[in-house]
Order: sequence, then structure tokens, then C-alpha cells
Amino acid sequence: RIVFLNGSFLPIEEAKVPFMDRGFLFGDGIYEGIAVLGGHLVDNEAHLERLERSLREVRIPNPYTREEWTQLEEELARRNGLTEGFIYFQVTRGVAERDFMFPENTTPTVAMFTQAKSIVNSPAAETGIAVITVPDLRWKRRDIKSINLLAQVLAKQAAKEAGAQEAWMVEDGFVTEGGSSSGFIVTKEGRIVARPLSNAILPGITRQSLLALSKEAGIELEERPFTVEEACDAAEAFLTSASNFVLPIVSIDGRPIGNGKPGPVTKKLRAIYIRMATAQRMA
Ligand code: PMP
Repeated sequence: RIVFLNGSFLPIEEAKVPFMDRGFLFGDGIYEGIAVLGGHLVDNEAHLERLERSLREVRIPNPYTREEWTQLEEELARRNGLTEGFIYFQVTRGVAERDFMFPENTTPTVAMFTQAKSIVNSPAAETGIAVITVPDLRWKRRDIKSINLLAQVLAKQAAKEAGAQEAWMVEDGFVTEGGSSSGFIVTKEGRIVARPLSNAILPGITRQSLLALSKEAGIELEERPFTVEEACDAAEAFLTSASNFVLPIVSIDGRPIGNGKPGPVTKKLRAIYIRMATAQRMA
């Protein structure tokens, strides 16, 4: 397995990050995750745009141009023979003696790896998944894709222990988003309900693409927060993320959604999204 670290492609066993890296000590870093389908990057430009924005917000210099990032991603996918799966990369503020304030003259640490995964042919997409709800314990800048993921680690572990596959985080009675996904419901009238973008959620790239595609398909959107009660009473629920595309949710806190099976709108949206992602591959 080959990874990328600070300018070099090397076997993962040889990829070492110094003890004093600020990512390790403070979680002082930003990450991205992009799907690979048919050996090609899905929605790469939008992911790189979000990376640029996250880095700017926390004032970590961006070490590469979009073209350079793209070349690194493609090269790493090629070296690992990755046809379908996920590319993860992170940028930390770098290595320095432990002190909260920004170090001077430190270069960011850049790390990138791939994970093979079958995204299109997924058993979870056939059966749908269960989610539980948990309080949203995160900080107030969730629009930044920070590597600080402790609240999500706890939320998703709680989901696992409850026999569920994702946790929906709840604040002031409203669902913010999933531990590693954007959350949606479908009303009985067939309209998608999605929480509007703000500092309270990560601007999901899959969310953005899917909402554009659903508009083209003539499916109406209500962009507003929704409660757990409304979600449990909805016709359908689903999540989106780069690593899963669109996944049906068939129960929330043990309560079945609709008839407890993946719904027609969700299935259609998943098909539309896969068609778009496949077409990018051909382009
Ligand atoms: N929200 C959170 C908290 C996430 O971690 C993720 C996955 N990175 C998403 C939403 C989905 O974003 P994307 O579609 O860009 O993968």
C-alpha cells in the first residue's frame, strides 16, 4: 500500500509523522475525502474548493494548487490500482514545539491515503441502514472540515453499540447532520427536506451535487431544519456522503421510517447520483 507524505510516495510502513506534529497534539488540521469511481475522482473540483476554504478559515497555508492536488490524487490512485473507493487527505499546521500560538516558519504536513471500497454495489444501499440520534456535542464551526472528530467518534461508536450504522446529531431539537454524512428526509408529498447551510453543518459536496440533480429531475426541495419527530414521521429518510453516495435510512432510534424499506424517491436519487458520477468518469 502506497501513501503520500510531504512530497513523497512511499510504502505506508515507511510513512512516519513526527511526534510534535500539531495534527497529533492539537488536532490542528483540515481534511478531505473524495470518492473514486472507475479510477476517476468524483466532484474533485468542489472538494478542493472546500479544502481551500477550510484552510483559509483556520489560516493554514495551502501547500498545493488545484492542479497539483489533482495530480497527487490521481497518481496515488494509480499507484494503488484504485478503481473504486476513497481518497483521504489532510493538511496539518506542521511540526513545532508544543505551544498554542501558530509556529513561525513551519511547513504544513500533507498526508494522503486510499481505501478500496465498493460504493455502487453496496448491501447497505439495498437494505437501508438504521440510525440513532445523539446530542450534537461539536464546536460552533462545523462548516470547517477539521480533523477534530472526537464528538463524531463517540456518536458513531454509540450507533454501533446500538446496532445502527450512523448517528444523527441533534441540537435544539433539530437534526444537524450525521456523524460523517448529510441528513435528509422526504415528505409524504415527495419533497426533499434538507437543513440549510450554516456554521452548524459541514457543506457536504455530495449534498450540493444531489440537490442540483434533484432540481433537474423536478423534485422539490424545502431547505429548512427538521426535528427528530418529523423525521420519524417522514415518508423516507436518507444520507449522502462521498464514501456512500446516497444511502436509504429505514429506521431512526428503532422506529421504522415509512414501511421500513428504502423508499422510491431515495432509490431514484441514488440512481441519478450514480449516473452523474459515472458520467464524470467518461468525460
Ligand atoms: N457531514 C459530516 C459531518 C461529514 O463528516 C461528512 C463526510 N465528510 C459529510 C457531512 C458529507 O460530506 P461529503 O458529501 O462532502 O462527503
